[in-house]
Amino acid sequence: MSDTLMISVSGMRGHVGTDLTPELVARHAAALGAWARANGRPLVVLGRDARTSGPMFAHAATAGLMSVGVDVIGLGIVPTPTVQLAVEHHGAGAGLILTASHNPIEWNALKFVGPDGIFLDADAGATVRRLADEGPPRAAWNGIGSARSDPDAIARHLDLILALPVIDVEAIRRRRFHVALDCVRGAGGGTIPLLLERLGCRMSGINLETDGHFPRPPEPLPENLGELGRLVQDSGADVGFAVDPDVDRLAIVDEAGRPIGEDYTLALAVRAVLDQRTADGTPPAVVVNLSTSLVVEDAARAGGARFLRAAVGEANVARAIRDEGAVIGGEGNGGVMYPALHIGRDAPLGVALILHQLARSGATVSELVAAAPRYEIVKAKGPRGPALAPLYAALRERFPDAEPDTRDGLRLAWPDRWLHVRPSGTEPIVRLIAEAPSRPEAEALVEAGRQLLR
Ligand code: MG
Repeated sequence: MSDTLMISVSGMRGHVGTDLTPELVARHAAALGAWARANGRPLVVLGRDARTSGPMFAHAATAGLMSVGVDVIGLGIVPTPTVQLAVEHHGAGAGLILTASHNPIEWNALKFVGPDGIFLDADAGATVRRLADEGPPRAAWNGIGSARSDPDAIARHLDLILALPVIDVEAIRRRRFHVALDCVRGAGGGTIPLLLERLGCRMSGINLETDGHFPRPPEPLPENLGELGRLVQDSGADVGFAVDPDVDRLAIVDEAGRPIGEDYTLALAVRAVLDQRTADGTPPAVVVNLSTSLVVEDAARAGGARFLRAAVGEANVARAIRDEGAVIGGEGNGGVMYPALHIGRDAPLGVALILHQLARSGATVSELVAAAPRYEIVKAKGPRGPALAPLYAALRERFPDAEPDTRDGLRLAWPDRWLHVRPSGTEPIVRLIAEAPSRPEAEALVEAGRQLLR
């Protein structure tokens, strides 16, 4: 097996044509279908992002699913959260998403969704992998599944967002916002402009073609949003939005064209939700992962919420949101999860919540950002040795005054800073992430970790 094929809890990703082949995709799709069928629901929803390899793999996945007697509902090019919602809408036994998210064009991936619209957990994922390894039970000639398409999934998704009581659609429409938009030629081009139109916004867009020819690195990081920043400046837009290729992450550019950092997407969304809650005795819960910025923690605490952290990984955060009955949660990478809609990262929902917050507050993006303390996050990576326990022990000895959390690698926390050291789930490396009030302070924390890694 090639070292670029990465197996994770709820799917796998690889380089197209070398390790991710139609044969592999068909077999794992068949395994997911067999799992859904064994659970009594032989129906699977299939969606994909705009990658050029998408049609080939969608055909392979459809064939694999039909081969185990499962009916397939194809959504075509749609955001990842649209697939999650469609699984619930159709009462399907599973969802299959063909997307490598923010990874470059040479990658593609399979992501497995359970009947609850949440990515498979470790146990279910292991069952599907075992079925793929053993060879899923195929149907005979008279038991083959059917395939049909559902062209309305995006419209239904937007209907659900606009019907949420937490979004004041009329207030947004009255502002007639001018929005700059960069969808990196991913699935967002067929979704976000429709949402903006329904919210009464004027739009200046780039990279709205849904052809998968990413014109820049597709992750919506500040260093990749220069063109969007210039678009905001040139067009005089109120705000700029960028989404990743499968539209589950949202990044914001302020009215001066400056990317404000993905952490602020969730921080502003948390404020939008908590600002509307009336105190009823029980503080609402907000759940994020262990690597999410303190700006989100500050927003949650300022809004009177209980603040909880879960292990890194969307499925972990999703299950913690469900178990805690949280009102909102997500990840600092621009992933907003609002369980009143569904428990998955959702960039269209994020757009609506941010525009709501701008409309209700009357403030500009930069004013909203300036209203809370700022931090600097520094990320680094290093080679993963055979065992990480000695590194964790050495770090705890080096920083005895920090509060340790060992649920996902080691996270050392102080009131205004933290250092998180964990093995990557998808690459043979160790990730070091630190946040502190200033960049030198965050760099010092990361450097301390790197020294002990050597
Ligand atoms: Mg993504």
